[in-house]
Amino acid sequence: MNKAALATALGSPAAFGQSQFAFMRGNAFEARVKADGGTELMRLLYERMGAGAGCEPPVPGGTLLPDLAAAGPEGRAARTALALRGATAAGAWTLLDHPMLALEVAGSPAYLEPDAVVVHPDGQWSVVEIKSFPMIDDSADAAKVGAAARQAAVYVLALERVAAKVPGARVGHSVLLVCPKDFSNLPAASVVDVRKQRAVTRRQLERLTRLEDLAAALPEGTTFDVERPAEELAAAVESVDAAYAPECLAACELAFHCREKARAAGAVEALGRGVRGELGGLTTIGEVLAAAEGAAGDPADPAVAALRRAAALRAEALADARAGERTLC
Ligand code: SF4
Repeated sequence: MNKAALATALGSPAAFGQSQFAFMRGNAFEARVKADGGTELMRLLYERMGAGAGCEPPVPGGTLLPDLAAAGPEGRAARTALALRGATAAGAWTLLDHPMLALEVAGSPAYLEPDAVVVHPDGQWSVVEIKSFPMIDDSADAAKVGAAARQAAVYVLALERVAAKVPGARVGHSVLLVCPKDFSNLPAASVVDVRKQRAVTRRQLERLTRLEDLAAALPEGTTFDVERPAEELAAAVESVDAAYAPECLAACELAFHCREKARAAGAVEALGRGVRGELGGLTTIGEVLAAAEGAAGDPADPAVAALRRAAALRAEALADARAGERTLC
């Protein structure tokens, strides 16, 4: 489902995403990096990755730029696979601009679009990610680089599915990250090793429950069709277990909806995963308060004992503060 459309239909639209200005700036930077038949991009790639492989440098204007246009994502993925095969057989520097890759996720095909993939003359395929966050003195925000590495690792996995059927092809486990240099509009590049992210993502994909099994667990007739009335949609979403945590706010379009539900239910998850872990068997804020006040909970439970100790310290501090106020008066 389109979770952003679902969140809007539920009355809790997602409030994150790139601003229009940042989006346009990102597009303009990417166009600049790929201008002139990818001359600058290929220069950066050769400088950072190509020279060690013993390939001749790409000649300005000499890089092949296959046409990847086709109808629908399936058609574009097939066209990309064909272009990758052709480029590998030709043994020439080739730049695939916004190729389309397919990857099976939970038993269903998902379509992915990297910024670019470069085929080296020796048969190596390299993923290129172009980001608009700055690279200052050759280093960028570690969290943003980590997110880009996780994203690129998924592209590497999808490319490996294609490469397995192409003689002489191999997918590089290092990707080229291109960012603006020191807040300017000039590109800077660095090589990011995504082996770890690739291994983690592969394990996660292998463990995912198949979509058919997830769908089979839903009540008969459940639909997330955003054209349905909001109450019906809310009931459909309610039929799926959610484990809201504040971390969802940065990653999921349904975060505001799930936060509202979690708060209404008094769920301790709304306070954060760390707090949830500390509270052990206490799952609602009501239970936590009752345990702290001594009205419920097993005193032998370490979480209950800690809460009571904290409540006693708080009461003591408040009593001291009140006594202090009286003395001043
Ligand atoms: S629990 Fe978090 S990740 Fe799951 S749907 Fe809600 S907001 Fe999204």
